[in-house]
Amino acid sequence: EDVIAKIAAGEVIHRPVNAIKELMENSLDAGATRIDVRLMNGGMKQLEIQDNGTGINCEDLPILCQRFTTSKLSKFEDLFDIQTFGFRGEALSSISTVARVEVVTRTESMEYAVRAKYQDGELLGPPERCAGNRGTTIIVRDLFYNLDIRRHALGSTTDEFNRILSVMQRYAVHYCSAAFSLRRLEKGVPDLVVPLQATRQQAIAASWGAKMLTKLTPLSPTVTPQGTFEGVASTLEYHGARPTVITFVNGRLVEFPALKSAIAGAYRHHLPSRKHPWVFVALTVPAGDVDVNVHPTKERVSLVSEAELCDAVATALDRSLQVVRG
Ligand code: ADP
Ligand code: MG
Repeated sequence: EDVIAKIAAGEVIHRPVNAIKELMENSLDAGATRIDVRLMNGGMKQLEIQDNGTGINCEDLPILCQRFTTSKLSKFEDLFDIQTFGFRGEALSSISTVARVEVVTRTESMEYAVRAKYQDGELLGPPERCAGNRGTTIIVRDLFYNLDIRRHALGSTTDEFNRILSVMQRYAVHYCSAAFSLRRLEKGVPDLVVPLQATRQQAIAASWGAKMLTKLTPLSPTVTPQGTFEGVASTLEYHGARPTVITFVNGRLVEFPALKSAIAGAYRHHLPSRKHPWVFVALTVPAGDVDVNVHPTKERVSLVSEAELCDAVATALDRSLQVVRG
């Protein structure tokens, strides 16, 4: 049974970035307006995420890392379809099955913070009082210390770091009213700093460089019968190596293949062949229209009547790119 739990956890958490994404979503769900991430060895040795959200009540700590522990059942339908999105109360339990987890948390009504340690879903001893501000810090150490297959499949420190940076840049742009920072403990300077209450442009500049703004144009916010969207597009491909197509659906960073090809189609008329798109699109659709595929990390989606919505995005994009070129 232990082995099965480990393998199942390894399906949800493939690498440090999967843990970061889950933990960042938890922080945002907890109303955080500041998220600071610190890494050792690309998150493989240690990853730490600190937020200023609601904190976790002491009485919830004993079961925090057990399977199906969630405080979000009522809110869940707002995110994705309850049937298909598989992470209900599974993120912390999965992480604690394949790593050592430490939680420091303090709610508004607590006079001290408390520190709790977990392994294999279980709380290791009673939580201790400690100093700390309101919010939650989660420290994940020695990821896959007990799952050789996964540990050996990890990339270099730089690879794993780059994946985390990329996901954080995307969240920082979408949730630009919150502050984000990313720091490698081996380095003196932070890798990403997005201040509180940034505009979307400022968040993009902080992540991709100010040059990005010279060729940036908004997509006009659009309402269609299938859903609404907003976004920005650039004709300056800063990275050069490959397209950057960032899609959020109902506040979650996802891969959306149909939209990606619609976007590539719209760009074809506007970019020389060796350049690539840079686009950010945030869609809001009825939760029941989202189909999350069987992909292990559950981040690839398709939508009911996606053709209409993808066409609408392509049309808006085409219009914006004409403006930015003209
Ligand atoms: P889920 O997010 O699906 O509920 P998780 O395993 O990710 O499941 O988290 C379990 C529960 O732990 C959450 O429902 C929430 O109550 C609590 N929690 C986790 N992270 C935080 C956080 N950063 N701040 C406040 N509460 C948190
Ligand atoms: Mg979660």
